[in-house]
Amino acid sequence: MENSKKFIDLENKYGAHNYHPLPVVLSKGKGVFLWDVEDKKYYDFLSAYSAVNQGHNHPKITNALKAQIEKLSLVSRAFHSDLLGKFAQYICQYFSYDRVLPMNTGAEGVETAIKLCRKWAYRHKNIPTNKARIIFASGNFHGRTLGAISASVDPDSTRGFGPFLPGYTVIPYNDIEALEKAAQSPDVAGFIVEPIQGEAGVIVPDDGYLKRASAICRDHNILLIADEIQTGLCRTGKILCCDHENIQPDVLILGKALSGGVYPVSAVLANDEVMLSIEPGEHGSTYGGNPLACAVAMAALQVLKDESLAENAQKMGELFRHELTQQKDTFPIIREVRGKGLMNAIEINDSPESDTAWKICLQLAKNGLLAKPTHGNIIRFSPPLIITEEEIKECCRIIVNTLKELFTEEWPMK
Ligand code: PLP
Repeated sequence: MENSKKFIDLENKYGAHNYHPLPVVLSKGKGVFLWDVEDKKYYDFLSAYSAVNQGHNHPKITNALKAQIEKLSLVSRAFHSDLLGKFAQYICQYFSYDRVLPMNTGAEGVETAIKLCRKWAYRHKNIPTNKARIIFASGNFHGRTLGAISASVDPDSTRGFGPFLPGYTVIPYNDIEALEKAAQSPDVAGFIVEPIQGEAGVIVPDDGYLKRASAICRDHNILLIADEIQTGLCRTGKILCCDHENIQPDVLILGKALSGGVYPVSAVLANDEVMLSIEPGEHGSTYGGNPLACAVAMAALQVLKDESLAENAQKMGELFRHELTQQKDTFPIIREVRGKGLMNAIEINDSPESDTAWKICLQLAKNGLLAKPTHGNIIRFSPPLIITEEEIKECCRIIVNTLKELFTEEWPMK
């Protein structure tokens, strides 16, 4: 039997210290389960930050990968491939857009959207050169590149990394008046927003926020850019989180579950006027849109539909929140249970600087469930969307038993 410590020590010795993982060393995954090197089995309630919506090792996705890798994996965009056009048609029809620009990671998708937005603004909105502004919402998380962190208000993301990109305006999230006010400036080109803020702690805006934001953007000729990297692809109980409000953003950014967790694939979708603002030689990526990515992404998208994962996420999410909300009276430590579909969080009755959420996650891991804190007092719960009713109920029991083990009925922790 392998010993976890030796793997952790190796990572700590040779790897950059840019993450703070839970002390589990995983070596196998299947469906909603993960196994560590000591063969302990866990429910995965992170799903690689919602990349594994379809479940680990989904046979239709891994078979697509295996079949394509035997044929052709990469040609770069210097040449055409026999899959890029097919994938582009597939994803454009899937989401009802004219065009797609494929990239690899989520952050690259965001960078692409920022560039696209600026280019469109200079060409179609006649904003003076280098004056375009983009509005972001406070609490945002759009990745770790300089373009993305320049919009961040989280000191952990920004401290020591300046100078940052100019041309950003940050307004409070879920504040439609603030958007209306910021939109008055003629130099505003776009509004980039997460339909639910994931890393901020599963912050669900008021019903109607996105719809009203969409109307404001339309009235002021501003591009509404939805970062659905985490919320999209059935996570919140609809194919896109924007579907809850029946809006179609001008630019849609997807990533993560676009490959079901087997390969980095991201994509930006838009209609002709926006997408054709970028011309040959102006943007791209060596791996973006490679044949392997195209084959994997088509399979991953098809699985979402074939297995009705939006519907399952909707139902299982309601069950999860129902089961845990009932526990609020028993455990005053639970401040709030919130979320949409299977994108959920428990906010703990303690300060964001505390390590209470971390301690709960350690105990959850001992009890066979892997979840990760976002901030000191929030735990995100986002299992693969294939999870069944029995499994959700079992997981709720694990969570409740864990709270029982850690807390008396009164704060503080035992
Ligand atoms: N945007 C959102 C909303 C995200 O949640 C993330 C990752 O968590 C990103 C962008 C960045 O994606 P990646 O880590 O693939 O660069």
